[in-house]
Amino acid sequence: MRYSRYFLPTLKETPAEAEIESHKLMLRAGMIRKLTSGIYSYLPLGLRAVRKVEKIVREEMNRAGAQEVLLPMVQPAELWQASGRWEKYGKELLRFKDRHERDYCLGPTHEEVITDLVRREVRSYRDLPLNLYQIQTKFRDEIRPRFGLMRGREFIMKDGYSFDVDDTEAEKTYWRMYEAYKSIFTRCGLDFRAVEADTGAIGGSFSHEFMVLADVGEDTIVFCQKCDYAANIEKAEVVEPAKPSSESPKQREEVHTPDKHTVEEVTAFLGIPPQKLVKTILYLADGKPIAILVRGDHEVNEIKLGHLLGCKKLYLAPPEEVKRLTHAEVGFAGPIGLDIPIIADIAIKGMANFVTGANKTDYHFVNVNLNDFKVSKFADLRFITPEDTCPRCGGSLEFKRGIEVGHIFKLGAKYSEKLKATYLDVEGKERYIVMGCYGIGVGRTVAAAIEQNHDKDGIIFPFPIAPFQVYLLPVDVKKQEVVEKAETLYQELSRHWEVLYDDRDERPGVKFKDADLIGIPIRITLGKHLKDGKVEVKIRKTGEMILVLLSELMTSIERLAQTLSP
Ligand code: ATP
Ligand code: MG
Repeated sequence: MRYSRYFLPTLKETPAEAEIESHKLMLRAGMIRKLTSGIYSYLPLGLRAVRKVEKIVREEMNRAGAQEVLLPMVQPAELWQASGRWEKYGKELLRFKDRHERDYCLGPTHEEVITDLVRREVRSYRDLPLNLYQIQTKFRDEIRPRFGLMRGREFIMKDGYSFDVDDTEAEKTYWRMYEAYKSIFTRCGLDFRAVEADTGAIGGSFSHEFMVLADVGEDTIVFCQKCDYAANIEKAEVVEPAKPSSESPKQREEVHTPDKHTVEEVTAFLGIPPQKLVKTILYLADGKPIAILVRGDHEVNEIKLGHLLGCKKLYLAPPEEVKRLTHAEVGFAGPIGLDIPIIADIAIKGMANFVTGANKTDYHFVNVNLNDFKVSKFADLRFITPEDTCPRCGGSLEFKRGIEVGHIFKLGAKYSEKLKATYLDVEGKERYIVMGCYGIGVGRTVAAAIEQNHDKDGIIFPFPIAPFQVYLLPVDVKKQEVVEKAETLYQELSRHWEVLYDDRDERPGVKFKDADLIGIPIRITLGKHLKDGKVEVKIRKTGEMILVLLSELMTSIERLAQTLSP
């Protein structure tokens, strides 16, 4: 591709709308442009990177036995009503009516459509297994679209769905997809981890997220430093405290704590560490009040709590409700004398002589013990912390931020039951098809790759997903002999590589800056050494520069490409 004719509008200035590096760089490198909130146009350079990721995804999905389809984006409401998601999905689902006043939505995901397709065609166990995927535009009316392609409203996703005869077969498919995903992200040149993820209302341990490690990631992931345990912090289990307190119970006392509402205020006032306080947090679960106890330095994990309670709606009790239930201002709730069910985090089991609110404005109790009140249940209700240990092996933990680029899920019969997707087994008995679903954010993967691979000068594309592999840069295109040599090289190199040929009559500084910004892995510069039959080859990733004889250029590039490939 000749740069002079290429639609590649690079920007010198950082656009004000972008907060994170990948977003800034994708705008500056002329990869994408915003049309409106969360909705982007892909320019040629951006699209090439997207297509590279898609190619890897296709190859690995096909290799794993999946088949590509393309499903409609516009979906009739009836299917979503049948699955129960027309009500449940909420405002992310963009709904509209056609000219006949029929309800439709734009697909945010395709479980309904694919299950409908499969239930019409699959009759017997002989028609199974099936594993179908597509690469397609999704629409989700995200509440806070941001970071460019990272969290868009319209975005490209690979979504796959598997159909098996039973759980055992479905699990085999699941692990095949797990391996395929590992290959995909490895081949994309990314530093990623597969982590155990929350399975939502379905339960079980069959969900993994694929996380690209990056500080701007919206998810926190936790790893064991000893074994291979890795999980999203939403999911990571906490084990019971190793040793319970050895203190013998002391006499409980009510103490005056004027205007001390927060854990910090109360513990500072009483001169105790937060580990000696128990927070009492009131929730409404499907409208019913419930009290949750966690240690002062711990945080309630509402996902875990939601699963435990099995409720549809869970939220913090509003201040009026707290006042009504505790007969006190907010900040003084405690378990003693509270007339609602109490659930306590397991860490509390080992505590003695702790502090709680006294259900009386401006008062707390000190030296509270577990036999002072009734706990309906002890459970794992909180977020894991660096002081906790690995739930598998007891090793110490490490925390990192990650960008979720892929998510795999064993669905079971959730959709096949709702939509009546059945088959006849060997004995002629009707059974539900067992499903799995597998997503990859294609645009998000490109953005995550850039977030992970850039420096102050610009993008450093991983070789496998770089829009071009070689950037050919003649310094002075006013010189006839330079242009001639560059043209010949462009032709030759293009036979083996994707070459962006900077044939522009621009100052060298401008060309070098753009080359660094765009981040093509290998740059070949035709400069002052050309008279000696040599060109400069620069590796964007390492900054390393070598002089190569023209006669050896092809083998040299070949070798470099190999070292740059994962
Ligand atoms: P998130 O928690 O980030 O909203 P999700 O759990 O809603 O993701 P899935 O429904 O599992 O995502 O979708 C599969 C994949 O699609 C995700 O792993 C992610 O890579 C991508 N994806 C989801 N939402 C968006 C979005 N708004 N913009 C870009 N990519 C997205
Ligand atoms: Mg989402």
